[in-house]
Amino acid sequence: MGKQTATASCTAYRAIEEKTGVVVPAGVVVARVGWLTTLTQTLASAVIAERWTEEALDELAGGVGPDGRDLPAKGYKALRRLGWGSRSEPGVYVSDRVRCCADEEAARALRLALHRRTIIEAILKTWPENSRKRTDAEWAALREALPAGVPVAEIRHRTRQVQAIIDGGGAFPLGIIEAEDAPFNAAQILLAAADKQLVTVTRTGERTVELRVQLPSVERPASRRDWAWHVLPVNLPRNVPGDVVKICVPSLRVKDGRVRVDLPFEVEVPFAPASGHVIAAGFDWGLNTLLAATIGRLTPHGRVESDGRPLSYDASVVSAKLHRLRGHREDLAAKRRHYDNLLTGLAGQADGDVRGPELLASRERTDVEHRRVCARIRHLNDALAWNAARWAVDQAGAAGATVIYLEDLATLEARGRRQGNARLSGQVRGRVVDAIRHLAAKTRIAVVTVPARGTSRFCPRCGDGASELMHVLAPDRLTQRGWKWAYCSACGLSCDRDRAAAERIVSRGLLGQQTTFTDRTTGKRAIRAGVDGNVTRVRRPKKATRAIRRARRSGTDLHPRPENRTSRADRSKTGPTRKRQTRMRKMTSSRMPDRRPVPALTFAVGNRPAGQAPQTNRRKPGRTGLVRDFHHRTGFHKARASPVLPLTEYGTGSRHATPPATPNPHGLG
Ligand SMILES: [Zn+2]
Repeated sequence: MGKQTATASCTAYRAIEEKTGVVVPAGVVVARVGWLTTLTQTLASAVIAERWTEEALDELAGGVGPDGRDLPAKGYKALRRLGWGSRSEPGVYVSDRVRCCADEEAARALRLALHRRTIIEAILKTWPENSRKRTDAEWAALREALPAGVPVAEIRHRTRQVQAIIDGGGAFPLGIIEAEDAPFNAAQILLAAADKQLVTVTRTGERTVELRVQLPSVERPASRRDWAWHVLPVNLPRNVPGDVVKICVPSLRVKDGRVRVDLPFEVEVPFAPASGHVIAAGFDWGLNTLLAATIGRLTPHGRVESDGRPLSYDASVVSAKLHRLRGHREDLAAKRRHYDNLLTGLAGQADGDVRGPELLASRERTDVEHRRVCARIRHLNDALAWNAARWAVDQAGAAGATVIYLEDLATLEARGRRQGNARLSGQVRGRVVDAIRHLAAKTRIAVVTVPARGTSRFCPRCGDGASELMHVLAPDRLTQRGWKWAYCSACGLSCDRDRAAAERIVSRGLLGQQTTFTDRTTGKRAIRAGVDGNVTRVRRPKKATRAIRRARRSGTDLHPRPENRTSRADRSKTGPTRKRQTRMRKMTSSRMPDRRPVPALTFAVGNRPAGQAPQTNRRKPGRTGLVRDFHHRTGFHKARASPVLPLTEYGTGSRHATPPATPNPHGLG
């Protein structure tokens, strides 16, 4: 059994002063918690600003204290060993525990900066000729200088950051200190760094927790008397399971006029072994869809066969929405910069201009809108990531897979035209991976990354690393170069490009599972070297229908094309498509649209976002069943995905192990 930590976001609405038993109303609690977080924010930002130098970062990165001993793993202890601990302002009494929390905050910010520093230093050391496009040699030099596992998206962000400084007329930065300002720390208090003299957490019931914490009763506490113990009853949200092993000490912050309690809790998760897997799910970061998947099985003879069912999660509509929102965000940022420039110009004039207040109000409005758009993007990214992950883990679970193989984002390069799902940033994909790891751990499914290189380049059926796939426009246009469709001229395989890639990923994982490497600190699993093998598609035997039997007997085409349409030009439309008459249309006003957007589901407990939702059959009231729909409802607004069906059979009897010799003209391979 292992442990998994998750954080529940709770709200504290009121508090009771322990000594007097007086109930403190919500507004006062918010103010007091706000004073506490502002105190720690001030203390921590002073430490960060003081130590934002190359020398100090070197010292911290060295990991050895002035006494020659290794620095402790706990952030606040490390800072105190270095003698960097925070000092309270004169006239303000802050206990040592509160300063511990501030030191922890500062230590985390500085240690995160160390991580960014190694990346920026590697990028600066190997600065390319053209920062928009590195050559292969430049990539190799950069990878050599970087620590392992840095995603391409992060490299791109840091490169753009440096390029922006150069474009802005600044000198070429020598390190992170010149490249960015001291990190900002939010107004929050990480109570985990303190002990029971500042905070205690007790579980008082199935869904209730009691948080005892010392809060200041004035904005600037002058002595110990200005601090008092408060008891904050907190209700656990319904996503916290009943069998929680441990409730940890939370962090507090004020958001939207409420006291937010970020409460970490630990649950036990079953151990998922790294190897010994027989059935696996392989996921490809698709070009046509966000995720394309296939289920594979390792046969006793050491071959990989796939059940031939393509699974896909299409988020192109959400992706388009995100793209629009990002554009809007950029516009607002530009507008805000413009107002700033105008205001600077006005400030330079001798006497105040009447336009000043108006401009200031406009700038404020733009700023609020910018923040809201940022929040919208963040929420949409989150919802998308969790929904896609839920779908992926449900698919793997339904097929009886014990492992999920994913492409390693660190080795994934941006491919092709960035449109549709491919436009989703590496950041979203990183979140999907994290969410898949989290959800899979609960159901005893291992998550392993495999190298992404060459997954869509070689044929999964006959390639073995030799036969290259052709990427063509469409199944019926196999001679025209394109992106979406894959066609192998050697064996006649013709299928969706992402599906072919998913098959290679599943074979890479299943065949290379003996070399699975587990990172000791993070517990993340990866296969570094790609072992490739062919994938056989096994299909369930299908009885020939009467129409097929008749077509075979008479030797005619089952799906003949209309005779009058011989050339491509004839296939063009001659008039507008006629509106379909629907029942709804007849019964109601003609102004009613015949298709209405479906509102996003509100998630209640037990509602799986990607689960199979039984829907009421409208024609026969009372009978439930699945509505016939090409695309499964994922519960997430406008994301479409294959339904989760527990099909674990790999077909028996006559298996289509050998592919047809001639390429199928209709591309239904
Ligand atoms: Zn082939």
